[in-house]
Amino acid sequence: MSELARALDPATREALAQRIRFYRDLGLTEFYRRPVEASLIEAEAASSSEAQQVADECDQAESVSAPSQPESAEHQIHAEDETISTRKSFPQPPQIGAAVAPGERAAALQLIRDDIGDCVRCALHKGRNKIVFADGSPAARLMFVGEGPGADEDAQGLPFVGRAGQLLNNMISAMGLKRGEVYIANVVKCRPPGNRTPEPEEANICSQFLFRQIDVVRPQVLVALGATAATYLLGARQPLAGLRGRVHSVRGCQLIVTYHPAYLLRDPRQKKEAWADLQIAMAELGLKAPARA
Ligand code: SF4
Repeated sequence: MSELARALDPATREALAQRIRFYRDLGLTEFYRRPVEASLIEAEAASSSEAQQVADECDQAESVSAPSQPESAEHQIHAEDETISTRKSFPQPPQIGAAVAPGERAAALQLIRDDIGDCVRCALHKGRNKIVFADGSPAARLMFVGEGPGADEDAQGLPFVGRAGQLLNNMISAMGLKRGEVYIANVVKCRPPGNRTPEPEEANICSQFLFRQIDVVRPQVLVALGATAATYLLGARQPLAGLRGRVHSVRGCQLIVTYHPAYLLRDPRQKKEAWADLQIAMAELGLKAPARA
């Protein structure tokens, strides 16, 4: 046991150990601690400030708080383009080292699903009917990431099956692809009550599973559908307008940011803009839009 750990009272030590085990369950395996001078440890070994310092350091490995401003939910997206101040960035878990062979990806994704189990890791478990893990091809070159399940998704256990899902299907078809050729997942896997935006704590906990899914599928292109998906994929909230129209890099993938289909249902005038975003993704994938009949 390290000198620092010995300096902690047993209750604090056990609480920290529990927290670290929890993060390891989520796939977070690396934790960092600022170096502490030995003289400082000796001088303050008996004080509670030492425990507080360690707790702060553990918080650096934790998904930290996202902005507190309320934002749109899956089916209540009103302000995709509103300007929101940039927030503190939060760390993502390291990318899984070796690529999973295409033939083994379905099994690897099932392992993640098994890890999730009948999850109660965040408060969203209380209101859900079904966990919405993902849909599509484990070997997809293109992956869409939304915010979270709505009522239809919660009932069926599949992402994007309501009206917004129908529009997403149309967008996929317009790209010359079938839904079964892409992979679709959300930042959170349980429906937020009333379709509200996931709380930062909920999204930060659940997105660890999303990152693992991305690492297994390793799509060439990720498309973030809406501000919430962009926020947690990029690790910082920025105005959607500033993120669209260019290619970002996330976990070895090219990331394109566009509007959430639910927002497009509310404001169809933005469909042209969304199509322009999808054309960037198509160019990265070497796809050509199918000829119109
Ligand atoms: S949203 Fe994610 S972390 Fe929260 S209970 Fe559901 S599966 Fe677990």
